[in-house]
Amino acid sequence: MAAFLGHLDLPDKQDMQVGEHERLIDKHGRAITDLRVSVTDRCNYKCIYCRTGNDGAQYSELPSADYLRIVRVFVSLGIEKVRLTGGEPLLRKDLPELICELAKLRTTGDAPLDLALTTNGHLLAEKAQALKDAGLNRVTVSMDAVDPEIFGRITRVPGSFHKVLAGIRAAQGAGLEPVKVNCVLLRGFNEDQIVPFAQFSRDEGVVVRFIEFMPLEEDRLWTPDKVIPVNELRARLSTLRPLVPLEANGLSETAQRYTFDDGIGEIGIIAPVSQAFCGHCSRIRLTSDGKIRTCLFSQFDHDLYGEMRRGATDLQIASFIRRTIDQKEARHHIGEAGFLKPSRSMVHIGG
Ligand code: SAM
Repeated sequence: MAAFLGHLDLPDKQDMQVGEHERLIDKHGRAITDLRVSVTDRCNYKCIYCRTGNDGAQYSELPSADYLRIVRVFVSLGIEKVRLTGGEPLLRKDLPELICELAKLRTTGDAPLDLALTTNGHLLAEKAQALKDAGLNRVTVSMDAVDPEIFGRITRVPGSFHKVLAGIRAAQGAGLEPVKVNCVLLRGFNEDQIVPFAQFSRDEGVVVRFIEFMPLEEDRLWTPDKVIPVNELRARLSTLRPLVPLEANGLSETAQRYTFDDGIGEIGIIAPVSQAFCGHCSRIRLTSDGKIRTCLFSQFDHDLYGEMRRGATDLQIASFIRRTIDQKEARHHIGEAGFLKPSRSMVHIGG
């Protein structure tokens, strides 16, 4: 840990509190409190709805000390929740050290950050305890089938299902809870997994969240008819047992939450396409190469790391962040005439 701190360019305390009384509010009146940081765009899976299978990493990644400095400035501007993602974040060997430093940061309200990780789970069994010990609070594991054979066909990695299942169980054992399992649904692809996934939630004690497929893939696969509408999803789930709605966890909660009539299992439905929640968006993203993305569907990157390379102080970084947030889009335009695919796909933005 000391070696990690050794090459940190720590800002002085005065600089670190640049925005304490001016939280980030975009021009649509939304408070920006949730930062997603991609720490690599390398991935050890080639999920067929996400990647072509031919292209590898396309963008660089930064030293952890630079992510830490950026996050520190964001936190001084009101960020409360940080999610580490990728690519596959567990491919970064120094992730526990980065988490350990992030866990020391305090929000403008003097609380610890809510620190979460999104992972494909392949390396989670061996790393879960170290991540928890470093200060990680929660983990979300992506898993698009509970049938091992279908899962292997999706990830294009043999034996992946059993690795991910072991990862989920290790995360629970380490107390990285609640463990959420995200499943992207595609018509004619894994829709037969809906009811088995609901059963999985009940058997394994995890929150299973179904996410609509978005036009964010490397290839050109997305069409509106590949998205499974919310009503159909609810109807299919109800064939297992009657669904019972649960209260939302706050305004910017993206999932509609349900349990079953016996209270066992929890299901989330995230419908960014058919029931967009942009009006309550509190998110901002940092790509692995240090660019800010104001929306998953942005056409532009905002080169924060370029400012840092040119020697920007923390105050200048904070001012760049404010100017960028002023440009945050009101909403996405999926499914509308003239919709343009974003300039980066999901794996290169950070999901
Ligand atoms: N490797 C990590 C993982 O698998 O969770 C983090 C990165 S991955 C790009 C983040 C999430 O994006 C995954 O849950 C994945 O299923 C989701 N995703 C990828 N492409 C998507 C798309 N076109 N529409 C919706 N979700 C997508």
